[in-house]
Amino acid sequence: MGRITVNKKEKKPKPKYNMFQNVGFMLKTAAEAKEKKIFAITAALILLSVGNGLLSIYAAPLVIRGLQENASLQSLLLTVLWVFSSMALIDTAYTYINVNAPYPKISVRMHILKKVNEKACIVSFQSRLETRYRELSRGAYSYCSNNNSATEAIWNTLFSLGSSIIGFVVFVVMLTAVQPVLLAIVVVTSLIGYFSTNYINGYGYRHREERDKTENRRWYVNDVTESLEAAKDIRIFNMQPWLTALAREADEVMTAFHRKAASVYIWSKIIDLVLTFLQNGAAYVYLIGAVVLGRMDVATFTLCFAVVGNFTGRFTEILGGFNTLYRQSLDISALREFLEYPEPFRFEGGVIPEHIGTVELRNVSYRYPGTEKDVLSGIDLTLRPGERLAIVGLNGAGKTTLARIVCGLLDPTEGTVLVNGVDLKEYNRGAYYKCFSAVFQDFSILAETIARNISQTDGEQDMTKVISCAKQAGIDEKISSLKDGYETHLNRSVYDDAIDLSGGEKQRLMLARALYKDGEFLLLDEPTAALDPLAEADIYNKYNEITAGKTAIYISHRLASTRFCDRIILLDGAVIAEEGTHEELISIGGKYAEFFEVQSRYYREEGGKNEEE
Ligand code: ADP
Repeated sequence: MGRITVNKKEKKPKPKYNMFQNVGFMLKTAAEAKEKKIFAITAALILLSVGNGLLSIYAAPLVIRGLQENASLQSLLLTVLWVFSSMALIDTAYTYINVNAPYPKISVRMHILKKVNEKACIVSFQSRLETRYRELSRGAYSYCSNNNSATEAIWNTLFSLGSSIIGFVVFVVMLTAVQPVLLAIVVVTSLIGYFSTNYINGYGYRHREERDKTENRRWYVNDVTESLEAAKDIRIFNMQPWLTALAREADEVMTAFHRKAASVYIWSKIIDLVLTFLQNGAAYVYLIGAVVLGRMDVATFTLCFAVVGNFTGRFTEILGGFNTLYRQSLDISALREFLEYPEPFRFEGGVIPEHIGTVELRNVSYRYPGTEKDVLSGIDLTLRPGERLAIVGLNGAGKTTLARIVCGLLDPTEGTVLVNGVDLKEYNRGAYYKCFSAVFQDFSILAETIARNISQTDGEQDMTKVISCAKQAGIDEKISSLKDGYETHLNRSVYDDAIDLSGGEKQRLMLARALYKDGEFLLLDEPTAALDPLAEADIYNKYNEITAGKTAIYISHRLASTRFCDRIILLDGAVIAEEGTHEELISIGGKYAEFFEVQSRYYREEGGKNEEE
């Protein structure tokens, strides 16, 4: 098992946007989400909080001043009543507004999450394979995942900064007017306190990559043990001891990290205690001296002492607030980078294809991002309208990659794809996709009704067509046997009443979906891999009907099933090793013929065995 290694000196990318730009972005987003009330709420909370703070500081000195000036009991009681009822009123208003504040904040965060979802759906497929995209995408989701995420918590930071700054300015004015020396003492001790404790408490943040990497491995164990897909393998392959060992190792590294951090954090507490002691001591000595020397009355003493006590708090809040704002700004900057992730494909403007005629791959090579070998190398291939092309080859030969290039999910790393003689890069990619129907190897079943999974629309759907496509794909009988028929929900994680389909049924559903879309170009990537032999044979018989009038790419391991195709290419060693019709390739006596022979022998032997039994 590999040990957890951490590169502590990784260079961090510079944020694209600064703090002020990101605050601007949030304000703009709030307006865009029609949640402008968040500005009024934040302003009101700031004013109420400052008002409350000032009243609580002024309460005692006011009463003392009254006593000093021999005010009547009635006037003293009135002062107390006035101060405390104002505080109670402010508190009530503050609580009322604060209780209602989360909804606009959540709504703004959800607005951003919606943008993240949209971006993830439309971003070029090829970007999704890039490491930078994946990192940004993971971050983007977490920066709007809960109430503490940057896109929501930033409003609290702005509120806290606003009230601290106003409170701070008021305190500075008061202390400057009354005791400038005291102001100097408080500012110096607060600054030392802030920067030293901040540096120490920043240990976890400075080492966040180290922490995240150790935690990631721990969460990986959680994800695997929780997942239903892995549950079977964990049991059959007895993976539990391995997972336990992995968890133990990750726990040890995490504990060591947190222990180290805790031993560092304790110093911030010690420094904090010493500085508070020094500050209060100095303030006491200075203020008592002023009272004794008759330069200050007791009421002013109480006021100044309260201001000193609160000053450091406000000062630390401001610096801490900017620190928090800076961190949140880093998150928001990364989120914006995700939303603005550059598109290699044209989704705006460009050539809109009336229909796809000839697709020509000219000297096309492809290498997956972050890998060192070409999966395809110097491929020349022309697909004519209405032609049915089969791609065969061993696992990993590049069949799926080639199909992805033809349908524009990937752009070649070298060479060109010409559609009707024009470079595919000139086309509007969204419009180009509209011409394709596809059955990919992995199933993408949506949490929706069966009918909507086939029609792939949330608007009007043609139920006659849905049923006829399901019939053609051989899944109508199964659907009709269900209590809710085509209205049956799929995906239990969203709908309690949903049902689960078997692998083969899902594959048929994918075929029905492709048929419903009725694109002029059909892409079938091992569309029968999950079907049983009878079902497979049934689908093979329908291929002529299914692909009639369409250009089609058909990828299959079953060589016999490719006979309906006009041309077959065999990929091997990243190139087209053989090309021709089934008969031609058999007569060449190359790899295709060899694979075909092995497969037919296997079936003959299996058949023979079955007959003997
Ligand atoms: P086939 O469809 O013939 O089985 P693929 O086109 O799926 O082959 O894959 C060809 C090669 O490219 C394989 O070696 C596979 O491991 C590699 N590959 C596929 N997808 C990726 C990816 N996203 N990143 C890196 N390598 C990949």
